[in-house]
Amino acid sequence: MRPSIRKTAGQNRLKAFCSITLDDEFAIHELRILTSARGLSIVMPDLRRRERCSQCGRGNPVRVRFCNHCGLELASEEFLQRPHDDLIYFDIVHPLKMSVRQYMTNVILEAYEQALQLSQEPTYTPPEPIIIRRGDAA
Ligand SMILES: [Zn+2]
Repeated sequence: MRPSIRKTAGQNRLKAFCSITLDDEFAIHELRILTSARGLSIVMPDLRRRERCSQCGRGNPVRVRFCNHCGLELASEEFLQRPHDDLIYFDIVHPLKMSVRQYMTNVILEAYEQALQLSQEPTYTPPEPIIIRRGDAA
């Protein structure tokens, strides 16, 4: 597994984005490295769940106040204040075994620490963001 780290400049919980290449044959982008009171952790690429509007039938991200298409109120302000993080997003790729998750975490955090050290050097230039274009697959 070959990780590639893109460190973020901000002072928020998000410390870096990471891409990994598996066996030089399969790439996964947009893993995130977050910090919390418990230390650094890896978040898998995820998507926000969607739901259909009862009036127009078109899809909207869950937990939006109004339908993006017809304007119907989908959720009250009070409902939106309640925490539901686990219901909003779902991982689109993830390891199936805890041992694989631990291995990935170790390799990625080691690469992050190396990138962090490199970024302290005066000659450091941050890597270009990875851009995936339609048609890149051949
Ligand atoms: Zn609607």
